[in-house]
Amino acid sequence: MPQRIIIIGGGVGGTIVANVLARTLHPYEADITLIDSSGDHAYMPGWLYLPFNHVAADSDQIIRRERDLLNHQVHLVIGEVSKIDSSNRELLVTYSPGRDAIAGTGGASEAIYPYDYLVLATGARLVPSDLSGLSEGNGDWHHFYSAEGAIRLRHALHEFAGGRIVVAVGGIPYRCPPAPLEFTFLLDEWLRQRGLRERSEIHYLYPLPRVFPIETVAEVVTPLLEERNVKYTIFFNTEAVDTERNIISSLEGEEMPYDLLVLVPPHRGAKVVEESGLGDEQGWLPTDRATLEVKGAPHVYALGDATDLPVSKSGSAAHFEAKVVAHRLIADIRGEAPRNGEATYDGEVMCFLETGQNKATQLVFNYEHPPRPPRPSRYYHMEKHLFNRAYWHIVPQGLV
Ligand SMILES: Cc1cc2nc3c(=O)[nH]c(=O)nc-3n(C[C@H](O)[C@H](O)[C@H](O)COP(=O)(O)OP(=O)(O)OC[C@H]3O[C@@H](n4cnc5c(N)ncnc54)[C@H](O)[C@@H]3O)c2cc1C
Repeated sequence: MPQRIIIIGGGVGGTIVANVLARTLHPYEADITLIDSSGDHAYMPGWLYLPFNHVAADSDQIIRRERDLLNHQVHLVIGEVSKIDSSNRELLVTYSPGRDAIAGTGGASEAIYPYDYLVLATGARLVPSDLSGLSEGNGDWHHFYSAEGAIRLRHALHEFAGGRIVVAVGGIPYRCPPAPLEFTFLLDEWLRQRGLRERSEIHYLYPLPRVFPIETVAEVVTPLLEERNVKYTIFFNTEAVDTERNIISSLEGEEMPYDLLVLVPPHRGAKVVEESGLGDEQGWLPTDRATLEVKGAPHVYALGDATDLPVSKSGSAAHFEAKVVAHRLIADIRGEAPRNGEATYDGEVMCFLETGQNKATQLVFNYEHPPRPPRPSRYYHMEKHLFNRAYWHIVPQGLV
């Protein structure tokens, strides 16, 4: 009997696991199903460029159909997993009416899926209402953490005629720690190009004792903020936003008025993780940092943004973790010992940090070794842009 492997989540992490498994295991060894609520695959790094019009919102650099990225042996189910029962090894899936690609449902709006192995690649979700005064779509505040949010921000920026723009973080952890800094550098450049910089103040607020979580990176980027006349306040843990009076305030008791607010919304793990009792108080999955098994749930693995691991919530981490999960599943199903090196995750992350003016730097690190970012240069900026294009052809397929 083939082993039933179910992967929840068709983001970068889940898609790589599915494709590597399908390429390696024979159909008599495994039956692979990926369940995703949207059926679309978003490339979130592209959202950073939407507010500045560097890329179109409907571009295939931003979004593609998940089916087109999956090996033909992977069954794709488009539906919402509404319950995970890890004791009985089964899932409850709810389908949205009118969606295609639903395998074996007989038209039902709910179905139970039993599994032998489960991979949770459910990512993170935005929860603006975790901050007092905020909810998605209320009041005048902005973010670039969804395609819709980034497009709304683009309109706001195009109407902006000068004043104070505050860039802030609504809570930790959040996806892609460099993103608010990258946005700040691109914003500075954009305002200069439009002749608005002299009439504008950019103020970057950060909850930690430095402008970036990792000290070696903060040492490189802090002088760049100063050079560009970007003001910053550290130890600013956002507590509330008053969208009537345009004031953001912190747990530390500071208040900052703004004309335009760009705020990374608070993040949590997936609702189904919270509601199935598998996550911690923020919905992150307690995950073994080396084997990526979910603690206390046999035959369940987690990867990417969904975990509670002490690494950046990044596509890069999800990518490296996916290889480890796939390797461990293959070894287990074949009754082989997992091979050293491929079978454990060492916290590896590799990403770029745009610093504006067509320059970027690169962050390469793991649990033991912090990044030593090189001086920002055009070379890394070009590499980042090349990677953004190459992504669709090599990453989801698990070819690198
Ligand atoms: C603006 C921005 C810029 C970024 N830039 C970079 C960068 O330069 N480099 C980098 O490495 N990372 C970057 N990231 C972070 C990166 O995009 C994410 O960390 C990565 O996409 C996480 O992948 P994932 O597979 O864990 O989760 P996701 O890609 O979030 O996928 C999760 C999937 O699970 C599905 N799902 C959730 N719950 C359910 C359910 N109950 N039932 C069915 N399906 C469900 C969702 O629909 C989703 O498709 C950036 C992020 C943002 C927002």
